[in-house]
Amino acid sequence: MKINASTRLAAVLGFPAHHSFSPAIHNAAFAEADINAVYLALDTPSETLSDMVSNLAAIGALGASVTVPHKIHVMDACTSISDSARAIGAVNCLEFSQGNIIGHNTDGLGFVESLRDAKVDIRGKSVVLLGAGGAAKAINNALQSEGAAVSVVARTPSKVDWCAASEWTQDLLEVALSKSHLVVDCTPIGLSEANESQVKIPVPFDVMPGHSVFASLIYHRETAMMALARARQLKVVDGLGMLLHQGALAYTIWTEQPAPIEVMRSALMAAVKSD
Ligand code: NAP
Repeated sequence: MKINASTRLAAVLGFPAHHSFSPAIHNAAFAEADINAVYLALDTPSETLSDMVSNLAAIGALGASVTVPHKIHVMDACTSISDSARAIGAVNCLEFSQGNIIGHNTDGLGFVESLRDAKVDIRGKSVVLLGAGGAAKAINNALQSEGAAVSVVARTPSKVDWCAASEWTQDLLEVALSKSHLVVDCTPIGLSEANESQVKIPVPFDVMPGHSVFASLIYHRETAMMALARARQLKVVDGLGMLLHQGALAYTIWTEQPAPIEVMRSALMAAVKSD
């Protein structure tokens, strides 16, 4: 990659952002497509988010990804928001265009693309989402657009204002899972072994039909839920595909070109391996 006076900046804004795999994915894509841009991870505390976004717009940045904890608050810094991001209530991708800051959300579609990669067909099928946070809401929107029947199980259903969620109890989990074609773990439970040990009611994979699929949004480790689903001989899809495809969709928004997906996938796998 050549950096010169015409090089444009792209970045992921998060706090922290420095652990992100997105620079590896996007810099590989820019190099492959000969796009004169560089993608950095910028640690952005909440109090500097708004200035960071306006400064990126002011310097003519190519685009930005937005990650935890900014996906909701960054909407205040946008001059317009796409219909799907508005419906989801969160933005994970910023497009800078002629002084405008346009907020998009590519998480849900990225998840659906990852199912396509894994040859999981969800049209007309029953899907259960575990957890009801921002990622679950984005995935719910995308799955419904694909014709899936989605239900949600949540630890605190009273907090959920975008669907009628069932409570995370043994009985209600069993009822939901016994009829499901796909179960998606949209919680951060699998982030670490310490988190996993605090779960009071484990997911009853034994009631799931044998042909069903388990997907997780976690991508940096094999989670206890993934291991249990594999032991039950279910097909398992991890969160790497979602990470890859939400990035590929952002790349296309920024460059108006198809993403070099296999180059991005190889760069992601190499980054994960060396982590
Ligand atoms: P979030 O908005 O904080 O939502 C988390 C949800 O999980 C909430 O409904 C929360 O319930 C629930 N939860 C947390 N701990 C739980 C537990 N011990 N038992 C049951 N439910 C629990 O987070 P998010 O943005 O949706 O992200 C969720 C996960 O997806 C994170 O690990 C994130 O890293 C991952 N993610 C991955 C990708 C990807 O590209 N692969 C993209 C986006 C997100 P309460 O409301 O009761 O706390």
